[in-house]
Amino acid sequence: MALKKFVAGNWKMHGLSSDLEKIRAIAEASRNYPNVDVALCVPAILIERAARAVPGFAIGGQDVHHAEKGAHTGCMSAAMLLDAGASLTIVGHSERRDAHRESDTEVQAKAKAALECGLNLILCVGESLEVRERGAAVTTVIAQLDASIPHESTDEAELTVAYEPIWAIGTGKIPTVGEIAEMHSAIREQLVHRYGAAGNQVRILYGGSVKASNAGEIFSIADVNGALVGGASLKAADFIPIVAAAALV
Ligand code: PEP
Repeated sequence: MALKKFVAGNWKMHGLSSDLEKIRAIAEASRNYPNVDVALCVPAILIERAARAVPGFAIGGQDVHHAEKGAHTGCMSAAMLLDAGASLTIVGHSERRDAHRESDTEVQAKAKAALECGLNLILCVGESLEVRERGAAVTTVIAQLDASIPHESTDEAELTVAYEPIWAIGTGKIPTVGEIAEMHSAIREQLVHRYGAAGNQVRILYGGSVKASNAGEIFSIADVNGALVGGASLKAADFIPIVAAAALV
């Protein structure tokens, strides 16, 4: 059976109280597409207000610390995200792997902590342009995935993998249909290798410059089970057509 499509927005460092209206508009419009799971991952400081503003709609964090508690100034535990009203979190986004020097081992520890605490997870992997150009994209991403996903078998509904080529994020550039298909098929194979048949139930999102005009084509590629959307998730007018495209496939 085809997996239910999942479209998640990543607001990154955007969003103030005055933007709660936008979250309400997105949650409201998403109800018209019950065959698509929709979520918004907002700045941590906005999670509680967002969750209260849109009960029943999935609000997520963008990162989590691997420890339960302790001397980690400026960090948030999975329990804190959950307590604020988040039902999921992103881990391993390339902007964190790059700007905060997060290693695969650290991402794996974060993933484990989030799942153990009851948060659903979007785990990001993706290659740089340099890696893509020297023909090592698939091997690099699969190695990254292998070193970042939790070892324990997981409830497939809780784990989502997002393939986000770094060079496609926020640039307007996207891989070809063939390149996306090749990568998603390799990720699927690796998930089945890791989790057995349950690996077929893990959703694999594509992320990187997804917008209304390219969403339909991307969603029709085999093993693309949705999208992680940055810039185009900030306004309902840009985001909802992407959800609508997912509903059609
Ligand atoms: C992202 O940062 O996760 C992302 C996919 O960004 P954008 O859609 O803006 O390329």
